Amino acid sequence: MSFASEEPLIDIGVNLTHRQFAKDRSQVIERARAAGVVAQVVTGTSLATSRAAALLARDHVGELWATAGIHPHNASEFDAASLATLRTLLAERGLAGEHLVVAVGECGLDYDRDFSPREAQRRCFAAQLGLAAELQKPVFLHERAAHADFLAILGEHRQSLRGAVVHCFTGSPAELDGYLGLDCHIGVTGWLLDERRAGDLRRALPRVPLERLLIETDAPFLLPPQAKKSHGRRNEPALLPLVLDGVAHVMGRGRQEVARATTGNARRFFGLGGC
Ligand SMILES: [Zn+2]
Repeated sequence: MSFASEEPLIDIGVNLTHRQFAKDRSQVIERARAAGVVAQVVTGTSLATSRAAALLARDHVGELWATAGIHPHNASEFDAASLATLRTLLAERGLAGEHLVVAVGECGLDYDRDFSPREAQRRCFAAQLGLAAELQKPVFLHERAAHADFLAILGEHRQSLRGAVVHCFTGSPAELDGYLGLDCHIGVTGWLLDERRAGDLRRALPRVPLERLLIETDAPFLLPPQAKKSHGRRNEPALLPLVLDGVAHVMGRGRQEVARATTGNARRFFGLGGC
């Protein structure tokens, strides 16, 4: 089964450095292209995966870009040297001088799993927001079960940030209003397609202004239920058109309209040239 979009799409959150893609990464990229996904932003979640993401972007100039950051799960690894390493990665350029690493992140707070102590998460998050402000790069944000603290820390930095996307937003209309109040972009994944747990998100989504909306797969995670038969367990960027369909349906808008808006937003937000 294949799902494709006639309109070009951009997947703003793909964990393409994940070991689940080790064996067939180039086919995954090819299938995405065939499905209409003209560009992908590869998520960095640690120094190691950020470095790997930058290398992928270097090998696929004009199609893949990277983020560099430390996910709240990995906040314990954050130390005095981390910012310098991230700064170096964020300056990476292609052979013709192209920007390869277009955002700081994934960073934020995750009190749902608490893989790192909360105090370490807050410190790591605030430091990366400071770095993004210094470099004038947008931030790619992760928040789970930490809305109040997250909003407070982001609020302190928001004015000096160039742009902020709350990736894989799953929250309520009230939480959404908090983010929109800080002029955030909102990233929506296939979480929306999971009827058992997407109630909040489905109520919130119609309030997102089209010019603030971005779409993503978060592959290999969050496989849309419709693709279980054809894809087993692993999500991949070629399934982004399913997210587009779900978003258009829940918002009561045309597929083409949502595709054009989100692709334009992604190009502007990350400053992607040539895709
Ligand atoms: Zn995340």
